[in-house]
Amino acid sequence: RLERELPLMASIQLIPYGDTEKLLISRDITSLERAETMRRDFVANVSHELRTPLTVVGGFLETLADSPEMEPEMLRRSLELMRQQTQRMQRLVEDLLALSQLENAQHPLREEKVDVPELVRLLHYEAQSLSGGRHRIGLEIETEDWLLGSPDELRSAFSNLISNAIRYTPEGGRIDLRWRKEGGQLVFSVQDTGIGIEAHHLPRLTERFYRVDRSRSRETGGTGLGLAIVKHVLSRHQGVLEIESEPGKGSRFSARFPESRCIQPEQAPAMVGR
Ligand code: ADP
Repeated sequence: RLERELPLMASIQLIPYGDTEKLLISRDITSLERAETMRRDFVANVSHELRTPLTVVGGFLETLADSPEMEPEMLRRSLELMRQQTQRMQRLVEDLLALSQLENAQHPLREEKVDVPELVRLLHYEAQSLSGGRHRIGLEIETEDWLLGSPDELRSAFSNLISNAIRYTPEGGRIDLRWRKEGGQLVFSVQDTGIGIEAHHLPRLTERFYRVDRSRSRETGGTGLGLAIVKHVLSRHQGVLEIESEPGKGSRFSARFPESRCIQPEQAPAMVGR
C-alpha cells in the first residue's frame, strides 16, 4: 500500500536492524531535477528562437504603419525580410511538432514496407533543386532492398541529413547520397566536402538546439532541431546515426539499420515516402 501511495521514484526497502527490521524509504531526485532542468532549458531555447524573428517582423510592421508612403523598393525589401522571418518561425514550429510527436512514446511506429531506393532517388532529385546547381550531387544505389519502417519519418530523417550537407557545403562542393548493404545491415549515407565539424562537438550534435556555429545555422535557415529529429527517427527504427567528420574537409552522416528491418523487394508492394 505504501508503495502505491508514495510519490513517484521512491523506493522502499526492508533492512535488518538488530532483531527486527527497519523500513527504508528513499527517493532519488536527481533524475527528476535533471528532467526539470532540461525542460526549463528547452522552453528558454524555444522562446529565444522565436523572439528574434518576432522582433524583426514587429519592428518592420511598426515602420510600415508610421510611413505609409515608403519607397516601393524599400517596401519590397521589408516585405521580403518579413516573409523570411515568418518562414523561419514556421519551420521551427513544424520541427517542434515533429519532435514532440516522435518523443511521444504513445505514438507507435506505423510500419510499412518502404521502397528506400526509390525514396533516395526522389530525394536526389529534390536535392538538386534545393542546391540550385551550387553543388555536384552524386547518387549510388548499391542495393534494391527496402526497409520496414515509417515512410514519412524516414523521408524526414534522410532529407534533414541532405539539407544539412547542402547548407554546410560551400558552392562548388560535392555531396554523395548512398544506399548500401553492409554485413546484412542497411545504410543510408550522405557525404559532403563541406566545412566539417571538430571532434569535440560530435557527441552533442543530436541535442536539441546544439549548433557549432549559431549564426551560420540561422543564416542558412536551420532550426537547430534537424539532427535531434534524425536521432529519434533512427532510434524508433532501432537504427543508429554515425558521424565522421574532418574540419575543412567534410563530413559523412550514416543512418544504419539492423538486418531485422531489411526487406527483399519482391516481398510486397512498395510505399515511397510522401
Ligand atoms: P541546424 O538546423 O542548426 O543545422 P541540426 O540539428 O540539423 O541543426 O545540426 C546541428 C549542428 O550540426 C548544425 O548547427 C551544424 O553546426 C552541425 N552540422 C550538421 N550537419 C552538418 C554538416 N553536414 N556539415 C557540417 N556541420 C554540420
